[in-house]
Amino acid sequence: MCTTKACIRTSAESKQTDPQLSGSVGKLESKNYSGTKVMQKMTVSEHLSMYWRFFFSGQYRTPEEALPQEKVHVAELLDRNRDQLKAAWLGHSSLLIAIDGYTVLTDPIFEQRISLVGPTSFHKDLPLEVKDLPHVDVVIISHDHYDHLNAYSIRKLADKAGVFVVPSGVGARLAEWGITKEKIVELNWWQEYALDEHLTIAATPAQHFSGRGLTDRNSTLWASWAILGPNHRVFFSGDSGYFDGFKQIGGKYGPFDTTFIECGAYNEKWSGIHMFPEQTVQAHRDLGGKILQPIHWATFNLSLHPWYEPVERLIAAAGSAGVTTSTPVMGKIVDYTVFQPTFQPAFQLQDHWWKPAMARSLRRVKPQLATAGR
Ligand SMILES: [Zn+2]
Repeated sequence: MCTTKACIRTSAESKQTDPQLSGSVGKLESKNYSGTKVMQKMTVSEHLSMYWRFFFSGQYRTPEEALPQEKVHVAELLDRNRDQLKAAWLGHSSLLIAIDGYTVLTDPIFEQRISLVGPTSFHKDLPLEVKDLPHVDVVIISHDHYDHLNAYSIRKLADKAGVFVVPSGVGARLAEWGITKEKIVELNWWQEYALDEHLTIAATPAQHFSGRGLTDRNSTLWASWAILGPNHRVFFSGDSGYFDGFKQIGGKYGPFDTTFIECGAYNEKWSGIHMFPEQTVQAHRDLGGKILQPIHWATFNLSLHPWYEPVERLIAAAGSAGVTTSTPVMGKIVDYTVFQPTFQPAFQLQDHWWKPAMARSLRRVKPQLATAGR
């Protein structure tokens, strides 16, 4: 493992979209792809209306009962074969990825609740306990929002993970929570970190924002990530609105064997910072992805749309566009090595596991907000 500055490379693209952080507390409002710049401005009454709807109204927003899941069979995932790509979705944006003999964990949330006042998971328990995790070569954090950066999980991973690769400014939070500085690698967009001669992690742009309180908005960077092994390439979106950066990322690091892209928590009012499902499909195409697995859905109630709507809209859009999708139930291991969709018509690696729960939601409540967020 290499955590020295010599292992960090900066590429030419950084000149075009460099976040230009001036220190770890430098505000990023002026940089490209600040989602807050493209969010619609709301009046005070619109804000109040939105908060009212968020806290007191809306049907279909949570399932009627805990959603199904499987326990992750770690031994099955951790084949140290250097020519394999497997992944288990742990819920929301958390993924345990086995790529070319390495283990990568993204945005780990090993808690049912993301903050004191935050929403509770739609699932009864975790598909994998931290104690059952094997050694993780790399933990990747996309940004500092509570549903992506969880203090409890970071502390628990201190001895389980080799290195934590994070956007600029986020490392200070990890250090506060007990991660030694030697294990923290901070990157700006288009910087690459070489774990060794085989595995490279590249920070790529995203259109979003950051902050965990009232006074730290955009004081740390947010990012998407390219995970580049000798035999496979994976894209992890973190959170992002749809923007032209996906084409640029695809041009530099694509094609990707699998893209894990956010699909959920969208709304017209904040379309700059989260994508609609149809945009998720377009982002996948821009990236040059082969198989699209949507993430950031079916875990937390973070918007006004029905809980199942993201995946329903996604598979419809993907079908029209000829895009192959993978929508495994949480905890199920998908072996992406065995799927070579480039020579087949689009197909769906899914079992429609959410349909029974969706049907139960539809039976019990009336569709007041079925079109919210479109
Ligand atoms: Zn976010």
